[in-house]
Amino acid sequence: MRTLFGIPVSPGIAIGKAFVLAAEGFRIPEQTVSSSACESELQRFRHAVEIAKEEIVVNRESTKTALGQAFADIFEVQLQLLMEPKLLGEMEDLIRTCYFSAEHSITVVMQKYMDTFRQIENSYIAEKINDLRDIEKRLLRLLLGAKRETFDQLSSPVILTATNLTPSETANLDKRFVLGIVTEHGGAGGHTAILAAALEIPCIVGAGEFLNAVDGGDTLITDANTGCIVIRPNEETLVKYRLIRDTESIRITDLDAYRDLPAVTRDGTAISICANIEFPYEAENALQRGADGIGLFRTEFLYLTRNDDPSEEEHFAAYKHVGEIMKGKPVIIRTFDFGDDKTADRFTSVAEHNPALGMRGVRLALKRWAIFRCQLRAILRASIYGDLRIMFPLISTVKEFRQAKRTAIAEVMDELREADIPFNERIPIGMMVEVPSAVVMIDKFALDADFFSIGTNDLTQYTMAVDRGNSNVNHLFHPEDPAVLRMIRRTVSVANRYKRPVSLCGQLGSGLFNVVTLLGLGLRTISCAPHNMMQIKRICREVSIEECRTIAREALGMSAAKDIQDYVKNSLQKFAPALFAVQE
Ligand code: PEP
Ligand code: MG
Repeated sequence: MRTLFGIPVSPGIAIGKAFVLAAEGFRIPEQTVSSSACESELQRFRHAVEIAKEEIVVNRESTKTALGQAFADIFEVQLQLLMEPKLLGEMEDLIRTCYFSAEHSITVVMQKYMDTFRQIENSYIAEKINDLRDIEKRLLRLLLGAKRETFDQLSSPVILTATNLTPSETANLDKRFVLGIVTEHGGAGGHTAILAAALEIPCIVGAGEFLNAVDGGDTLITDANTGCIVIRPNEETLVKYRLIRDTESIRITDLDAYRDLPAVTRDGTAISICANIEFPYEAENALQRGADGIGLFRTEFLYLTRNDDPSEEEHFAAYKHVGEIMKGKPVIIRTFDFGDDKTADRFTSVAEHNPALGMRGVRLALKRWAIFRCQLRAILRASIYGDLRIMFPLISTVKEFRQAKRTAIAEVMDELREADIPFNERIPIGMMVEVPSAVVMIDKFALDADFFSIGTNDLTQYTMAVDRGNSNVNHLFHPEDPAVLRMIRRTVSVANRYKRPVSLCGQLGSGLFNVVTLLGLGLRTISCAPHNMMQIKRICREVSIEECRTIAREALGMSAAKDIQDYVKNSLQKFAPALFAVQE
């Protein structure tokens, strides 16, 4: 049994068999072959090594022509490694003496060398690890080729373990077969984390390197309430976790009582609790949990779950569906926000060194007019089927907002009018406040934008200069940071002054206790992950606005996120002790 810890990002406890994916999506189970198949396995292995060498020679020659000898030498090093008798000999020995499959032998030997090299602090050696990793991937690709196993064809429930998952891979997971997710990399604010929560799959990211300690089929416990992962648990631990898992499901059912109760504070202030959704089918789930509206519909996942772009009719059907399901409650549709971690090759024409600061969000939309126009037409056409609103992501200048609203939307509206296609002429058009420049200039934006929604995930990333999806800097990623809270305070107070509705849809709102700080800062609409709505409602009903103001005032005066987290929790324990009978 081995225990390790990562960053819990989607709560719950999962117990099941591991499905192991290597960096490129290959499965590395401990596979053996029969003694009679040993010779043909050796042939398979040697054949793959020969093809790999040929491929490397081709790469070396084309690199030499394009970039010169110095760059071609990179491949020369790999070629030498693939001719290294000791390395190849060890792999062949495993096939011959342990009857391991060629794939498993490669993985075992490569991992052993990489582990040894990792102990040595030397940049030359660090490069060698990359070369070994590259060779390993090449050999596995050649060996597994067409029979590469993908997790979109799972047929029995597993816990998915991987180096990392992209948001589109996560979006494509089949919930019936993925009990839990554990990744080596990734941070709390990344989109993989957000999607796992949307799919309500217990998920832990940033667990550090552990894949070489797990084999496909090993039993795993994923305690995504605390971030604890147990590999090959003993019987006593299994019994303990099964009990916690079963008790938890009772607690979740208890909360159902809050579904039809309004989120009204003890002193009678009505709070609107809306849902963030990524897929149209979630609208139903949100409504059933008592959502007052959809505060954020992240439409990019309509594109990322497929290899081509949705047609205007497909967009239209999705928005009409959500508008109708929500029965006149507000639905904020955010236009696509590709870029950074949420992207597919077809949206990035050039590789960017710094994609979070590059062509993403509304910047990309304004450049890719055909895709943007198609989406805008569909939203406007669907606007007569519900209270739909349009929101632009990653707005950083007033000019950009005006281009999107006055040029792009105005043009599409003209087209629809000319074609006599009905739409809501007064559809509210707002923006995400998720870039520090938008906060600083919020008074100027208030002259053009019909509403604001604060995106604390990106606002934290850009304010603190911390990559939201990078586990190395996760200790610095705190949306409760006083710097971020001060940005929220300014946005809310200016929006109120200009009488512009303002809500918050970043993950800060889903962190249960934070709601009191947010109410204290003046917010009255919070949009969060659907599975958190009832708990947040419950907290709202236990506190008064005066208590929330006191908490927010104190928090704003502190200098560290950690102090704020502790202070808010302690204050709630004092003001609303009833909450803790269930929370603790
Ligand atoms: C945010 O940045 O807080 C936000 C809600 O948008 P996303 O997480 O999709 O970037
Ligand atoms: Mg964002």
